[in-house]
Amino acid sequence: MKRRDETMTPERAGRCEPADARRALPPVNRLADLVGDRVADLGWADRVGRERIVEAARTVIEQRRAAIAASDGAPHDSDDGDDEALLVRRVVCALERDLRPVLGPAINATGIILHTGLGRAPLSKPAATALFEAARRYAPVELDLDSGRRGDRSAIVCDWLRRLTGCESALVVNNNAAALVLVMAALARGRSVVVSRGELVEIGGSFRLPYVIGAAGAGLREVGTTNRTRPTDYAAAIDDQTALLLKVHPSNFRVQGFTASVSVADLSAIATRHGLPLVHDIGSGMLNRAIVRLLPVDEPDAQSSLEAGADLVLFSGDKLLGGPQCGIIVGRGDLIDRLARHPMMRALRVDKLTLAALGATLQVLLDPERARETIPAIRMSRPDADLSARARRLAEQLAGLDGVAEAVAGPTEAYLGGGSSPAQAIASVGVHLRARDLSEDDLGRSLRLGDPPVVARIQNGRVVLDLRTVFEDQDERVVEVVRAAIRPVEPGPLSR
Ligand SMILES: *Cc1c(COP(=O)(O)O)cnc(C)c1O
Repeated sequence: MKRRDETMTPERAGRCEPADARRALPPVNRLADLVGDRVADLGWADRVGRERIVEAARTVIEQRRAAIAASDGAPHDSDDGDDEALLVRRVVCALERDLRPVLGPAINATGIILHTGLGRAPLSKPAATALFEAARRYAPVELDLDSGRRGDRSAIVCDWLRRLTGCESALVVNNNAAALVLVMAALARGRSVVVSRGELVEIGGSFRLPYVIGAAGAGLREVGTTNRTRPTDYAAAIDDQTALLLKVHPSNFRVQGFTASVSVADLSAIATRHGLPLVHDIGSGMLNRAIVRLLPVDEPDAQSSLEAGADLVLFSGDKLLGGPQCGIIVGRGDLIDRLARHPMMRALRVDKLTLAALGATLQVLLDPERARETIPAIRMSRPDADLSARARRLAEQLAGLDGVAEAVAGPTEAYLGGGSSPAQAIASVGVHLRARDLSEDDLGRSLRLGDPPVVARIQNGRVVLDLRTVFEDQDERVVEVVRAAIRPVEPGPLSR
């Protein structure tokens, strides 16, 4: 960068300035010129125009003026100074903030594979590609290409869901909570739903089953007790107000000890005897037994539930299915038709991006062998993933950094998360990290504020970087983010 500081004189700063520090501020155009040079050096020229630079320069100068006025022209500490280099850096910082992705990728070092705070399942490459292509161009999301007439969104993925779960028909909505709301509104509004007390769960902080049922205008008929519910409890609760029987996978909690719940098959027999539909919310979205076998979990699957007699099965698209956020409803054609025709459906429908990504994910899942390698959530869940060598290498690199007091590879416990199998830890490996001059909480925060953010776990006075959820090609970035985080006083790479 050219140095132009010597050309700066009080006269050039403007004639009407009062005789205080404000006189020393450069004119906006001059500051903009200096920033323009810096922007060119940084290679941002095609992303930041002159107008934007002038505006940012003006804002920074106005802020300095206001700050000087507030301090009555008193001398300021060096950190607060007005030399041109510092002003340029302030403007560049402001421009950089605007260039940063609003929601860029983060590195998940928590070991929680389906971390709701980090967007749950990362998409597979085929799904991400399909989404990208559909995003940039038009896509026939609601157009029947054969007849040229208006089509049905869910029909796009219906065939795939049929082949994967054996369902008659299927419907895709915004998420599984929306699926449940739709089912309640369309099939149980003004009537009641029978649910076991052992299944009235809260999932993910805000999804509370009793409230969802109530909000959709259906009544709740609780049966049994928290730990035990028997077939006779359901049979005794059914009356002429009953709209359907609902079974919910407890997902994020387990009752241990003396427990009893009623199987789908037994519930189906009761429902059939009373001419009522049986709805099963399985949560995680395992589609069939072949896919369950890929994972170290004990989760219900849609195929088995339908075979055992459930009329509708609901699940999330972004949990163990490994796809985009959505709620999927599979089951009896006549019931799906009623849901699809309900006016609320218009408020719950998904867009072309979701359908493109979901379709590609389902295609991969048709071949479990391929799914195991291709879908990140499934690949990361496998207990045989070899992480030790990576952890040792990473620990070695981190231990060599200035400011690191300790970095050792060691065992950790990873979890599927996303409301599945809370008790089933997956043995994992990570780096246990301690900084010389930062507390574990401060280091954790500093890593979260890194570029990209690295989200880790704090445990026993250490920051734990669990490698199970870190993509292999991110290891190098982790080292860079730790390097920057451990010396937080230095200015960021872009503002130097
Ligand atoms: C996670 C979960 C939900 C909520 O699903 P979203 O897709 O997050 O709306 C509902 N029911 C069960 C059983 C779940 O596990």
